[in-house]
Amino acid sequence: MLEIDLPSKQHDESRQGEALILESKSNLPNQRKLYIESYGCAMNFSDSEIVASILSEQGFSTTNEYEDADVIFINTCSIRENAETRVRNRLKQFRAVKRQNKDLVIGVLGCMAERLKSKFLEEEKLVDVVVGPDAYRDLPNLIAQVNDGHKAINVLLSREETYADLSPIRLNSNGISAFISIMRGCDNMCSFCVVPFTRGRERSRDPFSIIREAEELRDAGYKEVTLLGQNVDSYKWKPHPRSFSEGEGGAGETTSASSTSLSFGEGRGEAPINFAKLLEMVAAVSPDMRVRFSTSHPKDITNEVLETIAKHENICNYIHLPVQSGNSRILDLMNRTYTREWYLDRIKAIREIIPDCAISSDIITGFCTETEEDHQETLSLMDFVKFEFAYMYSYSERPGTPAAKKFADDVPEDVKQRRLEEIIALQQKSSHFRAQNRLGKIEKVLVEGLSKKSKSDYSGRSDHNHMVIFPVKEDVKPGDYVNVLIEKTTTATLIGRIV
Ligand code: SAM
Ligand code: SF4
Repeated sequence: MLEIDLPSKQHDESRQGEALILESKSNLPNQRKLYIESYGCAMNFSDSEIVASILSEQGFSTTNEYEDADVIFINTCSIRENAETRVRNRLKQFRAVKRQNKDLVIGVLGCMAERLKSKFLEEEKLVDVVVGPDAYRDLPNLIAQVNDGHKAINVLLSREETYADLSPIRLNSNGISAFISIMRGCDNMCSFCVVPFTRGRERSRDPFSIIREAEELRDAGYKEVTLLGQNVDSYKWKPHPRSFSEGEGGAGETTSASSTSLSFGEGRGEAPINFAKLLEMVAAVSPDMRVRFSTSHPKDITNEVLETIAKHENICNYIHLPVQSGNSRILDLMNRTYTREWYLDRIKAIREIIPDCAISSDIITGFCTETEEDHQETLSLMDFVKFEFAYMYSYSERPGTPAAKKFADDVPEDVKQRRLEEIIALQQKSSHFRAQNRLGKIEKVLVEGLSKKSKSDYSGRSDHNHMVIFPVKEDVKPGDYVNVLIEKTTTATLIGRIV
């Protein structure tokens, strides 16, 4: 994947393979130690927090040295071939520790585990346990099986599991921003994509457990939450009658609802809660806590959602709206279920309803049968919209996907790469153009911490998700909001001073 100067955290290249550490629990000498590293999208990083939560109940602490671990987990991504190659290479590095510590448990979690299932155990002899994204509650049992000398696997996908009742343990947290998973799986079946096969059917999480998690984060001092789902606009929750008389997320736990704009009857009555309503509920948790979300799908994003964003000061004016291609024929082959015109109409609606809204996108070059003219249409759409940021990929055929079954991967690799370079070059210009538009403006920035490059600067993000760098000021600390006058820019980073 190639991305430029990208501030968004939904797929953070700098975090790939990061070992996640639970800082808040003491490391008692006899505690078993978990080393967990994550690859891929924000959802995987969020899932690793669920895994840590489940294992901490079993007395595990975390370590950032895999040589010290009793259990090593890799939470994997299958979205492109190179994501899988990266994991295979990483596994090789664990061989030496396994040789020295025969009791060490090595597990593969997430999308690659789900895609390859027991084949993984056959192909990678080092691996003891393979666990799909809906089976994390079974981890203590699976680890016990391995401790008893067996290989263990659970790759069952669920139609219900949302881990709603689990309070994820925040790993590597800056104490300021956190992810909240609002749904799992995907029903869209974009022809290039492996996600529906690795993460199963779409299901929405009980909104009251989402609000409870947001309130817990607020009470712990967090200032920003990002609501996560593969297609957040299709969030829909209609209560099961049972959920109001018993168990997690039932009426007994809806005290939080009274502190939001959700009237108590809603959610209990006939009207399901959609994404616009959920956004409103989360925004009402605290005016001081920013709300972001990812990812929106062009076919589903409604004016109601846009109006909700426009209405609430603390819902950020930033939408990630992946287009994938600017050509309607290719979009059809991709089964994206919208056309170029539809996408541009959605952009128009965003600009009308939220006049100052940043928009980013995902783009794939070299999808099956893509001609030079099709590619030019992607460039012209990009040039027209001028995205703030973009994640850009060349098409990687994934086994078992509809595209792999139906179409030949017929664009030569060098052509894919050349097209990718062209879209990157154009995106760089757009990002620079958008950043330049911010010159002389005052941005409200949430301070995240010291800049990576200089201890005398802070870094934080603007409402529009731009990374902003500015000199440290004595009375300002991470977690504060400050107004920064923008005086300079790089390609996409804004540089200024507090005013
Ligand atoms: N659900 C989100 C959506 O529909 O936009 C994101 C899904 S995926 C994790 C993130 C991005 O990976 C997609 O938007 C797409 O651009 C890219 N992607 C998915 N499958 C791919 C493939 N086979 N080859 C190249 N890029 C791919
Ligand atoms: Fe994959 Fe499409 Fe679902 Fe996104 S919406 S996860 S690209 S199938």
